Amino acid sequence: MSTVLFSRRQALATLLSAAALASPARAGLIVGANGPLIGRAPGPVVSLERPQPVAKAPQTPPEPAQEAVVAAQPRMDGALSVALLNANTGDRMTAVFDGTGPAMVPRDKARLDWFFRDWRQNEIRAMDPDTLTILASVVGAARRQGWDGEVRMHSGYRSRKTNDQLRSRGVGAARNSFHIQAKAVDFSMPGMEMAALHRLVKAEAPGGVGLYRNFVHIDSGPQRRWWG
Ligand SMILES: [Zn+2]
Repeated sequence: MSTVLFSRRQALATLLSAAALASPARAGLIVGANGPLIGRAPGPVVSLERPQPVAKAPQTPPEPAQEAVVAAQPRMDGALSVALLNANTGDRMTAVFDGTGPAMVPRDKARLDWFFRDWRQNEIRAMDPDTLTILASVVGAARRQGWDGEVRMHSGYRSRKTNDQLRSRGVGAARNSFHIQAKAVDFSMPGMEMAALHRLVKAEAPGGVGLYRNFVHIDSGPQRRWWG
């Protein structure tokens, strides 16, 4: 009996040692089959896990990783989600608003404030909630008309310095623009005719409305209408 046991054990040991010899040899040849060894082969793996462009901006939002999660789920439980593109910096984010009408509240205000920052001076100022609500209600109305695209944001908060620079270049910024108070947004909605956007904004925005050739201005100031 013991002889049989021994020989089985011996056979097993022979098999195991053969396997042990075989696997390192294979690992050397087939690198992809052995996970941990790949760690020393570098580049692509590391760069894939880096945070996206946001990281290079000097003032980053609190949780940049959140963006991808929210953007992947455009519509949830009646909330209004608004895809935003910053035409100057190329930043993208999806703003999610809860509630309806004037009671709409953005979920990620800190990130919105960063998105609408004065990119020339790298200066952040808290955006006026009423202005953001006006923007959201315009987008909501556009959705009801069948539009479903990305809002192209041309201008949000502007420091006094930036506003003065634009004025000196004859860009048409008002001296005491509501942009300086973070109460104005210039935007367009690619995919929607400008004439249709003008009508929509005039109907939805209670404050200031400026109509320009390729964008509209909204602000939460007194009701005014003008052509730029
Ligand atoms: Zn404006």
